[in-house]
Amino acid sequence: HTGALLFLDLDNFKRINDSLGHNAGDEILVELSQRLTRVLNPTDTLARVGGDEFIILIENVGDSHKQASLESELMAKVVQSVFYDKFEIGDLAFQVSCSIGICLINNANAISENILKFADTAMYRSKMKGGNSSSFYDPALQTLLENQTELETDIVRAIACDEFCAYFQPQLSIDGSIIGAEALIRWNHPTKGLISPNSFIPIAEQFGLIQKLQNIVLRDICILLETLRDHNVLKNQFNVSINISQCQFNSSTLKGELFKAIETYDVLPSQIKLEITESMLAGDLMSTVKQMKELKSQGFVFSIDDFGTGYSCLKHLSVLPIDELKIDKSFIDKVLDNASGQSIVQSIIGLGHSLDINIVAEGVESAEQLHILKSMGVNAVQGFLFAKPLTHSNYLKWHKE
Ligand code: C2E
Ligand code: CA
Ligand code: CA
Repeated sequence: HTGALLFLDLDNFKRINDSLGHNAGDEILVELSQRLTRVLNPTDTLARVGGDEFIILIENVGDSHKQASLESELMAKVVQSVFYDKFEIGDLAFQVSCSIGICLINNANAISENILKFADTAMYRSKMKGGNSSSFYDPALQTLLENQTELETDIVRAIACDEFCAYFQPQLSIDGSIIGAEALIRWNHPTKGLISPNSFIPIAEQFGLIQKLQNIVLRDICILLETLRDHNVLKNQFNVSINISQCQFNSSTLKGELFKAIETYDVLPSQIKLEITESMLAGDLMSTVKQMKELKSQGFVFSIDDFGTGYSCLKHLSVLPIDELKIDKSFIDKVLDNASGQSIVQSIIGLGHSLDINIVAEGVESAEQLHILKSMGVNAVQGFLFAKPLTHSNYLKWHKE
């Protein structure tokens, strides 16, 4: 290798800049350039290419290097010596981090204009890892990103063509009466058939399309509630849950979108249950509490999804307005296996009940599972044993039976 091109993008620059005003951002950039200049060799090149983006051309990295050792060398040079110390602005000090993409330059691509694009692609990969990291470019990455971009374009098209809708999976109380349903999005693709959410939700989140999908689900939930009411089969305690993505939960528009939907369709907030995952509680607790309390005071119901897979501590649970914990399917799968499979479920149930929170078991597939879960004190169940997620009209039939 004759060299390496580093594409460096700050992770939290915008947030710091927005909270302090513009001069603060400039001060950080100046300080950063000075720090970088100090650690680089005279033969290296440093350039700022955008708001908070830099490129660094490092000459002669040598071809004896293994990728891993080169990476740790570059990271030590750039990250540890430049980003380790906080940036001081007035009385405040900020930790700044960055995402780095690295493209090795060899004789084959030395004259290629694509090097910059490759390094940028690798930088983007670091962003997707959550920032504060580095990635090397390789051609497979390009293919991955191209596929993602293709999927993104297809999602945009599919939204316009009305190919998304919600399916509904019934939730029953442990004694068998119907208490609610979970809305699960489906993509009716013209050539690929019915596509499951796991393959497109992450892309929709990444490309800022999740809000649009969420609004489709919200609309379908309200239409279902309205239909149940029109057929005189809507019970007081019945609610439909919607899965809320992390980025959506953090966004200031969530409350507005919820109200827009329920007002359009004349639905009550208490008929909508917001499912957030346990891992979402691990972030900024203050703002999570604030957001939850506000929505809760409006009447919305809260459920913690995938419970047991994250790392919430008891302290958190007791300060949050939680109505329900959903025990993750992976635990329900093991409940018949052995004593340890049971003890996890039993302790989640104990925890929930001590906090006066309902416990729902999801992914219940057999009568044996149902039997043991009942004996353990689970309040409600959901799973293929009762019904798979159903279309609006199939759900309506199921509900009326
Ligand atoms: P989840 O929220 O944990 O949803 C439960 C998943 O388990 C659903 O998969 C459901 O069909 C499936 N399931 C329910 N009972 C059983 C069972 O007895 N056996 C088995 N094998 N599976 C069962 P689905 O619909 O493919 O959804 C997958 C994930 O996609 C959901 O996991 C959720 O995280 C996400 N998702 C679905 N709809 C939405 C949505 O509207 N918005 C967002 N943000 N995420 C969604
Ligand atoms: Ca869920
Ligand atoms: Ca779940």
